Amino acid sequence: MLNILVCVKQVPDVNLVKIDPETGSLIRKGVPAILNPHDENALEAAVRMKECYGGTVTCITMGPDQAEEALRECLAAGADRAVLLSDRAFANADTLATSYVIVSAAQLLGRFDLVFCGKESLDGATGQMASQLAERLDCSQLSCVEEILEVDEAAGIVRVRRTLEKGSEIAEGRFPCLMTVEKTKYRIRIPNLKSWKASRKAEILRYNSRTIPGLDPNRIGDPGSPTKVPRTYPPVVGERGQMLDEGGTEKTVEKLLGLLADLL
Ligand SMILES: Cc1cc2nc3c(=O)[nH]c(=O)nc-3n(C[C@H](O)[C@H](O)[C@H](O)COP(=O)(O)OP(=O)(O)OC[C@H]3O[C@@H](n4cnc5c(N)ncnc54)[C@H](O)[C@@H]3O)c2cc1C
Repeated sequence: MLNILVCVKQVPDVNLVKIDPETGSLIRKGVPAILNPHDENALEAAVRMKECYGGTVTCITMGPDQAEEALRECLAAGADRAVLLSDRAFANADTLATSYVIVSAAQLLGRFDLVFCGKESLDGATGQMASQLAERLDCSQLSCVEEILEVDEAAGIVRVRRTLEKGSEIAEGRFPCLMTVEKTKYRIRIPNLKSWKASRKAEILRYNSRTIPGLDPNRIGDPGSPTKVPRTYPPVVGERGQMLDEGGTEKTVEKLLGLLADLL
């Protein structure tokens, strides 16, 4: 029976987020929060493994109270257990502090054979979390997993197909193994009404900085985050380019040289 952990993040729908030009901060008000799309793929892959080999899928997130909604989506889509790590003391966490909190809590939940993450989040998009989690959990890591070909529980090995820039490769990871997922061959299921209703009533396991034993206050939230984001700003859109086509190469080059000479 596989013990599977899926790390999920609730993110603002970045297509709708704007940046305040005065303060440089994201205007999140009125912007719907969604489950990070790569994490939906990670969850689907995890649930398929459970269905194929048996076991349990636990979803975990560190985030504000509202992130509970993302966890309920995961329960509706086939997760068995959902864990929310939420505390004001976690505020302004960078990836180092976030991975520390997630792993500290995950270790209370048991030993996981497989851990799934999205390739990156839609908002922070550092792509650093998975490697940090793998390091802290002492896991092997397989990135860009598109399909899981075989799980050999007796040997403690997972065999996958990874997406490469040009083609694919078959790779194996030893348990515990953390896999990151972008696109997979697994179509994301739409929860039926029964599972959606059950997810509304399901219990969410909650931890905060006081209920995770031994959590070092200097390694969480702002004090535990060496990365700071002093400013966020939209890209500066330069002047539009001009297409030159004078009906032939010589004439076009002549025109270009004329334009360049005007700039001097
Ligand atoms: C300036 C700043 C302030 C922040 N303030 C807060 C705050 O106040 N409170 C707070 O809770 N968070 C806060 N965060 C977010 C938190 O630090 C991020 O969740 C974390 O740093 C992950 O970074 P990322 O989004 O780039 O992950 P990536 O590495 O791009 O994500 C890869 C994968 O890791 C997993 N993952 C990422 N984040 C989480 C998560 N939070 N929980 C579970 N799995 C995850 C998902 O599977 C995801 O697909 C803040 C981030 C920044 C940059």
